[in-house]
Amino acid sequence: MVFDSAVTQLRYAAGILRGRMNPAMLSRIADDVVATVAEFGAPGEDSALLPGQGAAADPEAAAAMLVRNLRRTAAYATAHTAYYQQVLAASGIDASSLDPQTWARVPVTPKAALRGMPSMFVSSRSAPVVLATTTGTTGTPTRVWFSAGEVDALVAINTLALCITEKLRPEHVMAHTSSSRGTMALLSVNEAVRRIGAGFLQIGTIEPALALERLAAPLDLPRKAAQPTHLNGAASYLAALVEAAEQGGWQAADFGLLSVQSGGEILTEALTERIREVFGVERISSNYMATEIAPVGAGRCSQGHLHFPSEFGHVELLDPVTLQPAEPGGLATVVATPFSFFRECTVLLRYVTADLVRLPVEAPTCEMAGITASSDILGRYDGPVSLAAPARSVLEVLEGDRGVPLPARYCLVDTAAGPLLHVVVRHNNAAALSRLEERAARLAPRLAGIVLHDDAEDLPSVVPVRADLRERSFERGGRHTEPIGVGV
Ligand SMILES: [Zn+2]
Repeated sequence: MVFDSAVTQLRYAAGILRGRMNPAMLSRIADDVVATVAEFGAPGEDSALLPGQGAAADPEAAAAMLVRNLRRTAAYATAHTAYYQQVLAASGIDASSLDPQTWARVPVTPKAALRGMPSMFVSSRSAPVVLATTTGTTGTPTRVWFSAGEVDALVAINTLALCITEKLRPEHVMAHTSSSRGTMALLSVNEAVRRIGAGFLQIGTIEPALALERLAAPLDLPRKAAQPTHLNGAASYLAALVEAAEQGGWQAADFGLLSVQSGGEILTEALTERIREVFGVERISSNYMATEIAPVGAGRCSQGHLHFPSEFGHVELLDPVTLQPAEPGGLATVVATPFSFFRECTVLLRYVTADLVRLPVEAPTCEMAGITASSDILGRYDGPVSLAAPARSVLEVLEGDRGVPLPARYCLVDTAAGPLLHVVVRHNNAAALSRLEERAARLAPRLAGIVLHDDAEDLPSVVPVRADLRERSFERGGRHTEPIGVGV
């Protein structure tokens, strides 16, 4: 979770641009902010500079810092990792001569390389302590080792983000429904919540009906809110909760939520609206972050762009097919190089995330103008880009239709006439089809057609979502579904 204000906080408070950051310094800043908020109720004037306020970094100094960070990171990778020793030597690249113009000579690192041989990316100088396995749904998980210092840095960044952006306070309780297998998120969010003094409730990706009961149940704790106040989860699991709540007759008044955060998957406006309605919550946020490139990430501005702050790493937005700089208005994939002073264990240069965005047609004029900007994440490809790019807009159509059970189960199939949409609906009839066709008519590119299904098993291909990482429980759902006291 990298949030703009947390990043800004760090930029001004600690002079990240001077490249003198370390985990202890980050932790001190986070603790200071928590203490200030505890005493005064808000982050201090001197440290809490909001995006766009306070002097933007001097462009010349920033450019010089970028050159230094790129050289230092490439040199570190070449000296200490087996993978880049080979790759950079084979390309005849001298790390000390690199700059943003020649940076493109460094070969990109495909996901498959890291997935296939994670240890070749681990620095010989580092002490790995935590293995974060991505909860990605595209098949083989990616494994990324982190050092103790990196974990501390991520905890500090999460502490700032939760304290400043999510307004998490000691009386609050966060319910965490992300998979317990998402080690790094669980570890760093749990510890960040502890530092703030709030409560942490690991729910995990359990049966949605059970999760709703836990969210609604009274906590009966001293100096804590009556019910969980913050909910964190993958978008598809939040969708499963919305479905269970709508079907189970839950009302917004049953819950005490103030804030919902979603990460790792596409959060559509349609789903955001339904979360707001079901839980009666105003603050719903989603930011861009991926385990492999953490703490590099992006936050959203008031005009809906994703902005990629340059403090933690260098982000390039490249055409997903040619891997050359994308044109204004064109599709791009996020290619990231976390700087070596944040990432000393698993080192990545020009890592191709396979996350798709679109570049703005014109330079943004928002409060974060000047910081690398794109559309929201549109999709993620592990096959043809043409089938991945419409993911967000298709989901927007499906999640806005009450005839589609959540999380939406669908897939796109390539045909000569364009992508053909297969989707599971509640009632497979002509009315459902015409309603979806009408909603989908605005999509670009146009769909070749829509095929309805009763069951996800009948889809031509299975598209797993994070809500499928279901964790078992001995508990039994009860309130709305089963009579209590029926023994076997
Ligand atoms: Zn913007």
